[in-house]
Amino acid sequence: MSAAPLLRQVFGFDGFRPGQEEIVTAVAEGQNVLAIMPTGGGKSLCYQLPALMRDGLTVVISPLIALMRDQVRALTEAGVAAAALTSGNTEDENAEVWRALSARELRLLYMAPERLASGATIPMLRRAGVQAIAVDEAHCVSQWGHDFRPDYLRVGELRAALGVPLAAFTATADAETRDEIVARLFGGDQPRVFLRGFDRPNIHLAFQPKDGPRAQILNFAQARRGQSGIVYCGTRAKTETLAGALNDSGLPSVAYHGGMEAEARRAVETRFQREDGLIVTATVAFGMGIDKPDIRWVAHADLPKSIEAYYQEIGRGGRDGAPAETLTLYGSDDVRLRRGQIDEGLAPPERKSADHARLNALLGLAEAATCRRVALLGYFGETAAPCGNCDICDNPPETFDGTEAAQKVLSAVLRTGQSYGAGHIIDVLTGNSTDRIRQRGHDQLPTFGVGRDIPKGQWQAIIRQMLGRDLLRPDPERHGGLAITAAAHAVLRGEERVTLRRDLISKARPAVVVRTQVDEEDAPLLSALKAKRRALAEAARVPAYVIFPDRTLIE
Ligand code: ADP
Ligand code: MG
Ligand code: ZN
Repeated sequence: MSAAPLLRQVFGFDGFRPGQEEIVTAVAEGQNVLAIMPTGGGKSLCYQLPALMRDGLTVVISPLIALMRDQVRALTEAGVAAAALTSGNTEDENAEVWRALSARELRLLYMAPERLASGATIPMLRRAGVQAIAVDEAHCVSQWGHDFRPDYLRVGELRAALGVPLAAFTATADAETRDEIVARLFGGDQPRVFLRGFDRPNIHLAFQPKDGPRAQILNFAQARRGQSGIVYCGTRAKTETLAGALNDSGLPSVAYHGGMEAEARRAVETRFQREDGLIVTATVAFGMGIDKPDIRWVAHADLPKSIEAYYQEIGRGGRDGAPAETLTLYGSDDVRLRRGQIDEGLAPPERKSADHARLNALLGLAEAATCRRVALLGYFGETAAPCGNCDICDNPPETFDGTEAAQKVLSAVLRTGQSYGAGHIIDVLTGNSTDRIRQRGHDQLPTFGVGRDIPKGQWQAIIRQMLGRDLLRPDPERHGGLAITAAAHAVLRGEERVTLRRDLISKARPAVVVRTQVDEEDAPLLSALKAKRRALAEAARVPAYVIFPDRTLIE
């Protein structure tokens, strides 16, 4: 059957979304395809529809049970013979799937990649007459990506064993991930690549530095009372406290994180799907499986870990195409936390520096002086005009020529041998003669004290903006010491000007961070630490944080 009538009869859609038709055609023709489409772009249809256009069975590899269940339910309701083999199945359900497979009754079989680890699976699929393979969330095969699933590596084996065409789908577009997907899934055959535009013009983009973060989130949610929204939090504990605070102010909210029982998580997913105006405060565990078209807002109580994660998370809003609002909060504590997570992680050095660069890209976006959408799309290799739908376009911030300040920072970094963190560089600039400064003889440098006219907190804000513009990078080989980038040379030579945001600099305050070796489960110690944090925050009149060995953060 051809595409258009199936689209209407089975899926109930009037037409294709941008990009879908070309992909459906290529997949139905049996070409190997890698399709990159934004979240909410309608990737599922691009393998479901071709599966019905050809005879026989299509196997769909998908990472999440909830996602598979939803799709199988929707397909079954539409009269399509579809089933899933997951670890959540009962014996009876499994027996029925195996029966339907050997009777060649199924058109779509969803499967978690872990299933491929069993030696029985591939021969079983071969007997079932598989015609094609579809791989959803294909970035899970990438060790560079944020959702790596080792069992995705077996998909290449499956393809080789069955000798059928493969179509892979993802919303993650950066070039490294794309290359890795091609290498690992297509075994050297170059697939046809479809790269659909990344812009989600209906999503309003906004960032704010943390300044009473709880009140910032409450106000944002308050102004959107009655609308469904998600608040992403950096820690499990915060999802709970924030849900409590929202409920206290009369906004129905429920927490969601990976530490909850599967049952409880599913209950939240179902409630969110059905109920209007519910807020879910969640860790990143909430998302990939959520198919709710009318999420009207997404807030980040803490900075996401990379620009890709940010894009995917805000992309859960406004899938129906109607306006959706976002607000992302960030503070220097977030930057420290994320840097620490990267540096202390087990990844190889080249991966760590890529992760720092991705975080820098997000910081650059957070502190952008011009249209955020231009910056965001620019990261994904697209050019755009100023959008008129971000906080910067709404309200352009005051900027100033920060070239001279940036040159001072760069020269202090160079003269101290590119081995020190921001704190030490600021001590040099402000002429703060600490023991370490004197021991290293840094009080003898010509740059010592050249930045006395600017307070410490403002230098921090300047350095943060420079990191965001990729003029400086923390060098993981030197314990995160700052190093200058190629782009910085043009600034040092005076060939490039540096435009900085004044608003971010005049408000800048330092934060206090306490690192500890206690276990988060240790309640008495925990409350002692929280009291200590409060005392510090009050004494210094700045935000303070406690970082645990597993790198969770308590505010
Ligand atoms: P993705 O996997 O790319 O994030 P989905 O496949 O989950 O996106 O689709 C997102 C939403 O768009 C779903 O609610 C889906 O039903 C809807 N959708 C997909 N294709 C179309 C279409 N051609 N017309 C209308 N709605 C569509
Ligand atoms: Mg999807
Ligand atoms: Zn804009």
